[in-house]
Parts: sequence; structure tokens; C-alpha cells
Amino acid sequence: MATGDELKAALHDLVDRDYTFMHICGTHEAAIARTGLRSVLPEGLKIVMGPGCPVCITPQGEIDAALEFVEKGCIVATYGDLLRVPGTKGSLESCGGDVRVVQGIHKAVEIAEKNPDKEVVFISVGFETTAPTVAATILARPPANFSILSCHRLVPPAMQWLLEQGEASLDGFMLPGHVCVVTGYEEYEHFPVPQVVAGFEAEDILLGLLMLVKQVKEGRHEVENAYPRAVDREGNRKAMDLMYEVFEPVDVEWRGFPVIPKSGLKLKPGFRQYDAQEKFGIEIKHVEKHSGCICDRVLRGVAQPTDCKLFGKVCTPRTPVGPCMVSHEGACKIWNLYHVRH
Ligand code: SF4
Repeated sequence: MATGDELKAALHDLVDRDYTFMHICGTHEAAIARTGLRSVLPEGLKIVMGPGCPVCITPQGEIDAALEFVEKGCIVATYGDLLRVPGTKGSLESCGGDVRVVQGIHKAVEIAEKNPDKEVVFISVGFETTAPTVAATILARPPANFSILSCHRLVPPAMQWLLEQGEASLDGFMLPGHVCVVTGYEEYEHFPVPQVVAGFEAEDILLGLLMLVKQVKEGRHEVENAYPRAVDREGNRKAMDLMYEVFEPVDVEWRGFPVIPKSGLKLKPGFRQYDAQEKFGIEIKHVEKHSGCICDRVLRGVAQPTDCKLFGKVCTPRTPVGPCMVSHEGACKIWNLYHVRH
């Protein structure tokens, strides 16, 4: 593989106009910010973060639903990143109920087994990377006092929406390496724009950008794989089959996006006893934004964290106003951590 310096030089030779590419992965954003990669790119070559943080794209209505489970006396278990995301009436951290941080669904099931007289609700967030594990746990038939709020999302429908809408004027996508380990990249091939699956070292990202620019210049639009050590075209079929055995696609809202057709995952009828929404009759409501937070625009790739007037002043990791400052995969938290000030 070419060195980082060689890749940078090749990019500088090639870039002769403005290009904007979007990545959809918090780990890519962290790698780009940590290595200061944006500062060495040719002028005109821009890489923006899209809706690649599963906690960030969870809309406020789903946070409010999680708080309703607490109000109903349930033990709510979820990932630490979700705790401080503000809902309409506070956060899971500040609500005063029995909220437990777990590393994954199996730990939430253990809580249900140890507390048979209590209802335990797992707030299940994540893309195709985590949904198969959740599906495997549901297939193993956890105890009856266990259920999940499925906040899972699928990446390709959001890309479809972004392309149809055209707001971010994208020249192509850097595909999320971790998601593609599971999904492969066949299902991305119908998108009529250049796409490259990339890994997470600085050289991987530079190589991905170089391949994207080349595709644009040569008038090609295909999916190329710059991360063959981890990703192949088919992905992990077993994991995907498990996911679709338990879940079915459903139309859902994303934070910063309207309802996107077939972009969420709902438990299939045979598993509805584990659907916390059905069990407790909780409706997910759309919540209008009232703060000055621009996470919605950051997640659509049309603003960057430093465009937000609250960034680093009112909104900090200690006093987060929006989810992008809470999650370790959120652009604002990452930019704050690595002092990115573009
Ligand atoms: Fe939202 Fe805070 Fe980011 Fe501004 S800095 S967009 S308020 S999370």
C-alpha cells in the first residue's frame, strides 16, 4: 500500500475543483479528527460526516419514550452514550428512575433474570452492526419480563434519502467499514454515485478519498473496496439472515430527517411479546426542535459543529445540548475532543 505521503501527493495532483464526499461513520470522523487529516487535504476536497452516529440519529421522541418506560416503573437498560441525550423532560441520567448502563443486550437480559418481579426494557440502538446480536438474543427467547425499544436504523435508506434530496451536493460516499463487514456492499451498488468502502487508518481514508476522486474524474460510479482485509461484497450472510428472521423494515423518523421509508427495524409478529412499545402501549411522537442546536443539519452533512453558536460555549461534553455532543461517535463531541476548529 502507498504511504500516507504518497497518497496525499496523489490527491494534490488529482484534485482540480471542489469535491464533497460524505462518510457515515463516527469512527471515520474520530480518525479524521484525531489525525488532523482535513488540514492536509487539497483545497476544495471536503469530507463531511453524515448520519453515522446511531445515538445521534435517535430522535427525541424515542428518548421521550425511554423516559416513559421509567415513569411506568420499568428498569431501563441501555448503552452509556444514550444516558445524557436530552429528551423533552430531561434525560435518562437525570430522570431519577432505575436506569442501568449495560455493555450489550445480554447484560440487560441478565438484569431481567435477576429481577423477575420487575419489567426490564432495553433501549436498543445501532445500525446493521448491532441488530444481528440483538436478533440472536431475541431468538433465544429471553424471560417474559424482558422487552426492547427498537431504535435500530438501516444505513442505505438514509443514503437514498440524502441523494434524492440533494441538499448536501455530494459527489459520493465513503461507506462505513464496520457496517459493511456485516452487510457487504452489494446493496449499495444501485446508488448512482461513486462509493468506496474504507478502513479506519489515516492511509485507509486517504486511499478511499483518492479512489472517490478518481471515480468522479473518470465518470464512473461504482462501489470499490479499499478495505478488503475486513470487508467483502457478500458480508456476513448469517448475521443478516438472523437480523431479518427477527426484524422487518419499517418507516421511521431519524433525528434531522423526516420519516424515511423502510429505514428502521421492528420486531416481526412472532416476537412482538418482546416489543416494549406494544407491551406498554407507548407511542413514539414527533418532537419539534426548540433549542439552537443544529445537530439536525450536522447529521445531514450541511453544517459542521463549529457552525453551531453553542459549540464549546453553552454546549460542552459536561453540558450537552444535543446528542452530537453526548455520544463518542457524535461529530460535536469528537471535534471538541480533538480541538478541531475548521
Ligand atoms: Fe447541538 Fe451542541 Fe453540536 Fe451545537 S454543539 S450542534 S448544540 S450538539
